[in-house]
Amino acid sequence: MYDEADLTSSELESSMKMRLKNREALFLKKINESLKRIEEGSFGECQECGDEIEIRRLEARPTATHCVNCKEQQERLEQLHIDGHRHKSIGSKLRLA
Ligand SMILES: [Zn+2]
Repeated sequence: MYDEADLTSSELESSMKMRLKNREALFLKKINESLKRIEEGSFGECQECGDEIEIRRLEARPTATHCVNCKEQQERLEQLHIDGHRHKSIGSKLRLA
């Protein structure tokens, strides 16, 4: 028979397992997408510009879908987006450039 403490810890355990499973599922999904790209022959190609993703980058992160340049550009754009909201003048200057 379980007493209350056992129930609580087993509930905790199952919620922890659930969270791990979710993370695992997300990772598996990414791995599967990578495998699919290997099958299609597009693994290691940047989805943005079609350039080869650096092998060292792929070794560190086999699920990478963008080359360093595009990734950096993406991050810059995200940063610009945030800055653009904060300083309207900077945003309009950049749009002109
Ligand atoms: Zn790229």
